[in-house]
Amino acid sequence: MSITIVHTSCALCGQDTSSKKAYTWKGRVVCGDCAQKLEGAEEIKETPQTNEYNSLPIDKVLCKAAPLVLGGADVYFKFSCAHCSLRQSFEEPNMYYLFGTCERCGRISRITRAGFLMSTVAK
Ligand SMILES: [Zn+2]
Ligand SMILES: [Zn+2]
Repeated sequence: MSITIVHTSCALCGQDTSSKKAYTWKGRVVCGDCAQKLEGAEEIKETPQTNEYNSLPIDKVLCKAAPLVLGGADVYFKFSCAHCSLRQSFEEPNMYYLFGTCERCGRISRITRAGFLMSTVAK
């Protein structure tokens, strides 16, 4: 078992947006090249740094979670919406999404910081 990092490609041209600036347009993730040609494209905000929750930068949270997953646990990553701050977790275990759509406000955040919940599974 290992953690899957879920990339999101530009909804229009298909290029990977994970390591570049990404924009949102009509509820979809688009790349910078496409965003320039679109009306109303907005840069996607990053998840906020909070002390309230155990949010760590992506590399740190993956370092913490990976050995647990290797040991047979399931982890559910959690993030705070960059727009309305709602704390939420992904339903799929062991999947780290680089972008998340908020279940309350419906806007997209780039998930640069996250925490996780662990649930142990019987072997
Ligand atoms: Zn594009
Ligand atoms: Zn939200």
